Amino acid sequence: MANEERINHHIETFSQFTATPNEGMTRYSYSPEDVKTRTYIKEKMEEYGLTVREDGLGTIYGKLEGTLENAPSVLVGSHFDSVPHGGNFDGTAGVIAGLEVAALFQERKIQPTYPLEVIAMVEEEGSRFGGGLMGSRGINGLIDEEDFHLIRDKDGISVVEAMQEAGLDSTLPKHRNAKTMKAFLELHIEQGPILEEENISIGVVDAIVGLTQLEVTVEGKAGHAGTTPMDRRSDALITAATIVTELPKIVQDEKNGTVITTGQFHVYPNGANVIPDKVTFTIDLRSGEEASIQRVMEKVEALIASHQKGGMKTSVEQQLYIQPKELSQEVRSSLKESTEKLGISHIPMQSGAGHDAMVFSDFTKAGLIFIPSKDGLSHCPEEWSDIEHLAQGVDVLFETAKKLTEAE
Ligand SMILES: [Zn+2]
Repeated sequence: MANEERINHHIETFSQFTATPNEGMTRYSYSPEDVKTRTYIKEKMEEYGLTVREDGLGTIYGKLEGTLENAPSVLVGSHFDSVPHGGNFDGTAGVIAGLEVAALFQERKIQPTYPLEVIAMVEEEGSRFGGGLMGSRGINGLIDEEDFHLIRDKDGISVVEAMQEAGLDSTLPKHRNAKTMKAFLELHIEQGPILEEENISIGVVDAIVGLTQLEVTVEGKAGHAGTTPMDRRSDALITAATIVTELPKIVQDEKNGTVITTGQFHVYPNGANVIPDKVTFTIDLRSGEEASIQRVMEKVEALIASHQKGGMKTSVEQQLYIQPKELSQEVRSSLKESTEKLGISHIPMQSGAGHDAMVFSDFTKAGLIFIPSKDGLSHCPEEWSDIEHLAQGVDVLFETAKKLTEAE
């Protein structure tokens, strides 16, 4: 069974690698905190007998070879970047689960038929480079090399430069052929209240809601806050704020858990005595039903276009679009069987958040399990999951990975 002490030690170690000590977890991709975490992950992978490599996006792989030559791997892991001032479990729990699965393979001297690979991915949250799911999208060939070179953070630093700074080689391959993957397994915290409320240890995810992220730009005209009369202004902030307040009304009649959020808002030039000439903000739209996303998108675009008047210019750029995804039936059954065999309580669930597993699901058999989040909180310093639940999740992943890496 999973070693709770070892898991706890990992959690405590990972928790130290934050840019905002005592104010939650802030671990941006390729930051000094990323480098410290990366070093620890690689050390542990080696300790557990895995062969370590990194790809051209900085994803870390630790591989336990199988007896079958050139056989596809069973991947187990998650991401290790965070949102600003987030918690110690989002992503991290899944990477640690992968490490612990490898430790259990080593302890039991299991020689799998198919290789086992622990995977630790970058930039799932998109907190530094926007969009999100960059690591898993790169692996699955969804970022072309030309576009890759254009990705920059808000300070204008490119991924290539950031990787160089972190001692990583961005010229290494990113894309891995789907034929090299047999399955992808991920453990993640629920980030919602259901498992805790129902007193259930494991949620086996059936489907992940679809999501889209838009970046809206509103451009007006700058002017002196004191000398420009009110009727001569093209104030980008007033228009942007009007649009944002109208968004909740658009989804009010939608069902299937359709939700819309503006979480980022940038005002330019951002001076107290200057009329803002430009505002950019994000719109994050999610739903379990694709038609609902399409419906809302059309309304959002019409709303934004309707504000193109009185000297205002508006534009919308879609940064991410992911359809609702059903996860592999076969892996789901396997996860459920493992859970039952271990006598651990479980329920089927839908995921309201996007995860790396959904990117993998188009290319390989993907499975995702949730463990309870205390008070349903996530993306905040209070985020918490019990080590006991994390250990149970590891046991389920271990059983499932063992089965999937055995001969058919
Ligand atoms: Zn996450």
